[in-house]
Amino acid sequence: MSQDALRSETDTGTATEPADSHPADEDVMVEVRNLRTYYEDDGLLGGSPVKAVDGVSFDIKRGETLGLVGESGCGKTTLGRTLIQLESATGGEIRFDGTDITELSGAELKKWRRNAQMVFQDPDSSLNDRMTVGEIVREPLDVHDWKTPAERRQRVKELLDTVGLQREHYYRYPHQFSGGQRQRIGIARTLTLEPEFIVLDEPVSALDVSVQAEVINLLEELQEEFGLTYLFIAHDLSVVRHLCDRVAVMYLGNIMELGPTEELFSDPSNPYTHSLLSAIPEPDPTADKDRITLHGTPPSPRHPPDGCPFSTRCPARIRPPEYDHLENELWTQLNTLREVLRERQRAERSITDRIRELLGKETRFGTIDEIYDELFGEYDLPPEVESVLEEVADHVRKNDETTALEIIDDEFGSICDGCEPGTGSGAEADPVEPEYHVVSDSGRRSLCHRHGDEYREPDEVLDERHRN
Ligand code: SF4
Repeated sequence: MSQDALRSETDTGTATEPADSHPADEDVMVEVRNLRTYYEDDGLLGGSPVKAVDGVSFDIKRGETLGLVGESGCGKTTLGRTLIQLESATGGEIRFDGTDITELSGAELKKWRRNAQMVFQDPDSSLNDRMTVGEIVREPLDVHDWKTPAERRQRVKELLDTVGLQREHYYRYPHQFSGGQRQRIGIARTLTLEPEFIVLDEPVSALDVSVQAEVINLLEELQEEFGLTYLFIAHDLSVVRHLCDRVAVMYLGNIMELGPTEELFSDPSNPYTHSLLSAIPEPDPTADKDRITLHGTPPSPRHPPDGCPFSTRCPARIRPPEYDHLENELWTQLNTLREVLRERQRAERSITDRIRELLGKETRFGTIDEIYDELFGEYDLPPEVESVLEEVADHVRKNDETTALEIIDDEFGSICDGCEPGTGSGAEADPVEPEYHVVSDSGRRSLCHRHGDEYREPDEVLDERHRN
């Protein structure tokens, strides 16, 4: 671990603070502020953009390894690619040593690119099989017209040494190497221009377990030798725990929690971090482990929830007080109903569907009675829930999902559904940088309404509601 990272952060003592606040003496290399990467809909009628990265802010200190974890599709790779300008940011800032690199273009951008490189997940597809190892590693030097051809060859041979390959490998082809060796070739290539910052995108997940440790050790040695700064993207949490100084937990384009690795792993604060960590397999299968089961799949980043990004699946979601006593399974079914209606509202109805609907015939969406039967058939519904569901069903039968959803939101919704934590607004408002709750003396930050004084903390609620 770097000395910088071992130095603990300072608590400002405030309940919330912008994610960019940090003590002035820290040596920050990368400052990310309210960064957004959206992909526009290219269809004729336009439409909602895919919000792959949706307003993240954090710093990376010189010489540290920041881990970035989260489920597949949460935006980790897009964030990494945006940081080194392989993708264009839609909004926000990325400052490297004070320079906003989202403003760079042309020769300035090419010059800056030397500072930041990326190691890709799959060494098979990231290396060109028609080029020799020497040509692959030398290519960035050729592009940047670095010194003379003889000096470039010499530099490549030294780099092959550095990453544990042999100089005579210069004239061989990638297919002649094992997966671990191919990843070493990829790492050598990223080092050619002496970058300060490297995005490691799942660099060992395609490798055999026996080779993973060798590559991890190599990355640690290189960091020590060249003073490198890493963003380490991974879904293998045990590797992250071993390698990273701090960890950022990402969900649906947002950073839900960020803090020192050991502290975050041993005492998570955000409900999503709790859920993610509870899924790590125990070495001892008989060990008594509290596992949180998440229902459903993450929403589409094209249509994220209006409130907290995790609100559609959160096991600690704040309920209206009058429904706090409902059993968890029934509460989950009510949430599922909301999601089904949201999807129905958004789904493009084909002309055939519309005609069938007008004729009162069945459509591919199924009737509300079928949905109710599926969701609530086994439950003895409390009268107050039953009357709301009847009202909702009446509106759905009239193809008025909008009013049906409004009724559900009014009755069963809470601050988690209508207000994004830390912003005081719903998703439709102009994007603003969220203020995080500081949840420990080290300055660890979490994005969750439950850290407010008026609510119970997530771990208390999770213990009570959802562990099995
Ligand atoms: S704000 Fe609400 S939905 Fe979001 S993580 Fe916290 S409790 Fe869960």
